[in-house]
Amino acid sequence: LGGRITRAIQQMNNVTIIDEKALNDCLNEITRALLQSDVSFPLVKEMQTNIKKIVNLDDLAAGHNKRLIIEQAIFNELCRMLDPGKPAFAPKKAKPSVVMFVGLQGAGKTTTCTKYAYYHQKKGYKTALVCADTFRAGAFDQLKQNATKAKIPFYGSYTESDPVKIAAEGVDRFKKEKCDLIIVDTSGRHKQEASLFEEMRQVAEATEPDLVIFVMDSSIGQAAFDQAQAFKQTVSVGAVIITKMDGHAKGGGALSAVAATKSPVIFIGTGEHMDEFELFDVKPFVSRLLGKGDWSGLVNKLQEVVPKDLQHELVENLSQGNFTLRTMYDQCSLQIPLNQLYSMLPGISAELMPKGHGDESRAKMKRYMTMMDSMTDKELDSSNTKVFNESRIMRIARGSGRLVREVMELLEEYKRIAKQMKGIKIPKNGDMSKVIPP
Ligand code: GDP
Ligand code: MG
Repeated sequence: LGGRITRAIQQMNNVTIIDEKALNDCLNEITRALLQSDVSFPLVKEMQTNIKKIVNLDDLAAGHNKRLIIEQAIFNELCRMLDPGKPAFAPKKAKPSVVMFVGLQGAGKTTTCTKYAYYHQKKGYKTALVCADTFRAGAFDQLKQNATKAKIPFYGSYTESDPVKIAAEGVDRFKKEKCDLIIVDTSGRHKQEASLFEEMRQVAEATEPDLVIFVMDSSIGQAAFDQAQAFKQTVSVGAVIITKMDGHAKGGGALSAVAATKSPVIFIGTGEHMDEFELFDVKPFVSRLLGKGDWSGLVNKLQEVVPKDLQHELVENLSQGNFTLRTMYDQCSLQIPLNQLYSMLPGISAELMPKGHGDESRAKMKRYMTMMDSMTDKELDSSNTKVFNESRIMRIARGSGRLVREVMELLEEYKRIAKQMKGIKIPKNGDMSKVIPP
C-alpha cells in the first residue's frame, strides 16, 4: 500500500503542471491502495472529497510544494478520521468500573481481556476477570489459565450455562471485594447472529458496564464496518481494540470501526503474549498505513533486538547513510531477526523475510554471509552494486559454492534495503529517539 501511495504522489510530482487531472489520477490510485488496505469504500470517498476541498489547486501559488501539501492533507485527513472527537472512558482507581468485552469468536476477546487487565494491574489497579462465555467449550479454562499466569483474580463456572447469571454474580463479587476494574469476557459466534446480540444486550443490562470495548481482528478486511456497526447497535460500544496487528493486515479496518462506533481505538494487539499490547497512537498508525514506516516502533525495536554494545556501531553506519554490504554482513552476523527490524520500513516488509519464519530467515542470513565471505574488501565497502559485473558474480558464486542466481538475489536485496535506509537520518550521538525518517 505504502509503495503505491508514494508512487502515486511521486508520479504527480513528475508532471510539470499539477492540474485537476493529475490530482484526480493521484487520488484514484490512492483510493485503490486504501481499499486494498481494508478501508471501507464510503470512507475512502469521504477522504477524497475532503482532500479536494483542502487542496485548492488554484490557490496554490507556483513554487508551493504541491506534492508535500497533498501528502500532508492525506495524512491529516486519515488522522482526523481516526479521531472520533471524544476520549474513551478511563477506569479510575478506588471506584469500581465494569468493562465489558464484545466481538465475534476468534477476534481475540479472551486474550485481549487479560492483556487489558495486566496492563492496568501494572499501573496499580486492582483488577479482576469474569468469564461470561458459556457458549464455547473450554472458554473458562482459557481465561483461568491466562488470569493465573498474570496473577489476576477470576470468576467463572464449569456448570452454569447462563452467561447473564455468571456475569452478574462475578461483577457483584468483585465489587464487594473492592476491585477497581472488573472485566467481563463474553462469548462470540462465528457469524453475526441474533442470538449473540440478544445475549450481549442481556449481559450489558445485568452488569451495567462503564465501558464496552469492541474487539476486532485486523484481518477481517472489508467486513469491519458492518461488524462494528452491528455491535454498536446492540450495546453502547465506547472503545475499540484492534488485534493481530502483528500479521499482514495494515489495519485499515480501524477507520471503519471508528466510523461505525464513533469511538476511539484505544489499544492494538501485536501478538499472542500478555505484553504484546500497545496503546494506540494515531500518527504512527497512519504513517504505517501510508507506508511511511513506523519510526518510533523501529527505534524501539532496534534497542530491543540489537545487543547494547553493537547498537552504537550499527547506528554509526546508518547515521552516515552508509549502508554497504559490510553493514549488511554485520547485521546478518548479529543473527537478530532482521525481519522484525525491516518489517517496520516501508515497502520491504513482506517480501524480505516473512514473519514467523525465524529459522528460514536465519538460514537465509547464513547463506548471505557465505556469499559475502567470498567478496573482496572493496566489494564489501562499495555502496554501488554496479561494480558487480558478470565475472565478479561468477567468482563469488564459485567461491561460496552458491548459485549465480543466489548471488544476484543477495545483491537485489541489498539494493532494496540500502535504498530504504538512505533517507534515514540518525543523530551521530546515537540518540535513537531523534531519528529523522526519510
Ligand atoms: P475470542 O474468541 O474472541 O475470545 O479470541 P481469543 O482470545 O481466544 O483469540 C483467538 C486466537 O487469536 C488465539 O489463538 C489468540 O492467541 C490469537 N490472538 C489474539 N490476539 C492476538 C494478537 O494480537 N496477535 C496474534 N498473533 N494472535 C492473537
Ligand atoms: Mg473467548
